[in-house]
Amino acid sequence: MQKYDYLIVGSGLFGATFARKMVDSKKRVLVIDKREQIGGNCASKNVEGIDVHLYGAHIFHTDFEDVWQFINRFTKFNNFINTPIANYNGQLFCLPFNMHTFYALWGVKTPQEAEERLAKERAKFLHITEPKNLEEKALTLVGEEIYEILIKGYTEKQWGIKATELPAFIISRLPFRLSFDNNYFLDRYQGIPSDGYNKMFKNLLDGIEVKLGVDFFNNRAELTSLAKKVVFTGRIDEYFDYSLGELAYRSLKFETEILEKKNHQGVAVINYTDSITPYTRIIEHKHFRASDSSFNIDKTVVTKEYPAPFTKGSEPYYVVNDERNNNLANQYRELAKSEKNVIFGGRLAEYKYYDMDDIIKSGLDAVEKELSMD
Ligand code: FAD
Ligand code: UDP
Repeated sequence: MQKYDYLIVGSGLFGATFARKMVDSKKRVLVIDKREQIGGNCASKNVEGIDVHLYGAHIFHTDFEDVWQFINRFTKFNNFINTPIANYNGQLFCLPFNMHTFYALWGVKTPQEAEERLAKERAKFLHITEPKNLEEKALTLVGEEIYEILIKGYTEKQWGIKATELPAFIISRLPFRLSFDNNYFLDRYQGIPSDGYNKMFKNLLDGIEVKLGVDFFNNRAELTSLAKKVVFTGRIDEYFDYSLGELAYRSLKFETEILEKKNHQGVAVINYTDSITPYTRIIEHKHFRASDSSFNIDKTVVTKEYPAPFTKGSEPYYVVNDERNNNLANQYRELAKSEKNVIFGGRLAEYKYYDMDDIIKSGLDAVEKELSMD
């Protein structure tokens, strides 16, 4: 008889959600992670009294009531609202695209003036009725000027390919509105864990056996034999030993510095939207928690985020949901169906561009499905 009901590969948000819900249902679980810390890409760490997001800005936002109720068992959230700024060759604009952005660009002061200007901007692209790629989608939405200043450079740096080769849905993540509202996300709930992501994950995994620094693939047979089922949250192509070919990913490099000043950029996130600056964003971590006492210390921590090609050994931060990779991922999903005792979940195993709340939702659904088969 196996020691565990579930061996959970990965202590990110999918693995931690699955583990917690199963332990709530009296199941025996073991969580392993090849990294030395819990939390996957949401992990954070205290540096100089400031909570530093180790793998890029992570802002929690959701409209799912069940997800919000669930995650609030493990942390309170502060009232952070994401209001990023775009820096294009030294000029600053408000994001997401809203009346502040249109005023700064064109001097238009009312939604009607903005509508009229946008109609002119879009006029050249009316022939594109079904945008086939990100560039076409952006041009039909905002026209050429905004595309050049705020989208093209950022997007092509971020993905390392032409915007004409990217799927249109990626740009639909960037909101667009005719109001003076700089709040990036319109979800009902938004915030940053009041005591940091690390504490949130500690609470999620409280009382659960976790082994860090353990790579599933280094000891696959023995680890699998420990449990009735495996929950796998790593790369789906790696799980199948790349038998159908390799899926594409985009990687990142983070450069973090401690600066001897109180306030560096006045906001948590600035996007660099030109094509020359090698990084896409600078995050100043203390602004995620402006109401904390640590905000007043005379130091600050900033992280530059550089897009990077994915190579063996680097981290697969983003999946690339273009046609080729979606087709290949579908073929891997077919293979996955034959693995009766394995559940594939999370951004890498499902090969989907998921936000944190989608991941929790997917974890909660997976548990419900499992328990209904008991
Ligand atoms: P991960 O967090 O990747 O966790 C998977 C875990 O599995 C990792 O810890 C990994 O080490 C482990 N693992 C993998 N393979 C193995 C193996 N072979 N053996 C052992 N362990 C293994 N979402 C938001 O909602 N808001 C944001 O602001 C936001 N910002 C983001 C910014 C960036 C730069 C990135 C990359 C993502 C962002 N996201 C954001 C998305 C968010 O990070 C993900 O939705 C979430 O972290 C995915 O959780 P996961 O459990 O699927 O995967
Ligand atoms: N994007 C852009 N300019 C910006 C910010 C985003 O063109 O200043 C585009 C870019 O293609 C990016 C997509 O919008 O990949 C989604 O942005 P988001 O901030 O949601 O990306 P994430 O936080 O997931 O990296």
